[in-house]
Amino acid sequence: MFVVTPELIREKTTHYCNSCEGEKSVTDFYLRPDGYPTKKLCKQCIRERQKATRSERGLMRRPNGAGRDPEAIETRRVEGLKRVKAWSAANPERTAEARREGAKRFAKENPAHVNAYNSARRARSRLATLPGTAFNERWIKAIYATARGLGLQVDHVIPLNGVNVSGLHTPLNLQILSKSRNSAKSNTFAVAA
Ligand SMILES: [Zn+2]
Repeated sequence: MFVVTPELIREKTTHYCNSCEGEKSVTDFYLRPDGYPTKKLCKQCIRERQKATRSERGLMRRPNGAGRDPEAIETRRVEGLKRVKAWSAANPERTAEARREGAKRFAKENPAHVNAYNSARRARSRLATLPGTAFNERWIKAIYATARGLGLQVDHVIPLNGVNVSGLHTPLNLQILSKSRNSAKSNTFAVAA
């Protein structure tokens, strides 16, 4: 029986690779802690065999999508987006719910952003407020109180921060809307060409 002794290991400088079918330096093999090769194949042959098995199974890695048609990647991306949109259109309640949850989470995680947004809104409303009369101020308060009493919201007919226009924070630019109509309107306002 062949026994590997420490002396044998110390003297061992070459090892037989079953795949190369020849003696190779022990440094070409993976070695046990005591210096004896772990396998009957050299490192290179082990790597090549792994590669062959992977490509057989179609598991070759493709860093950065290399080897894939960029047009196919783009088509897949666009189709994915379309599927998401179609799902959203088919599930409006769950989409709205997800949006609300997302906004809530964002607000919780970004309190500074919310502060900046709110103070910009207040500043806009101040800038948009005409040096008014006490009558106008009472009128605006009455509109807000009415909306509150009805469980509705006050909307600026011409938005304060519209894309093409900026309305004023003045009674004649206020209207009372339901929450859903108000959020559907957002800051849009059709400007005649
Ligand atoms: Zn080999």
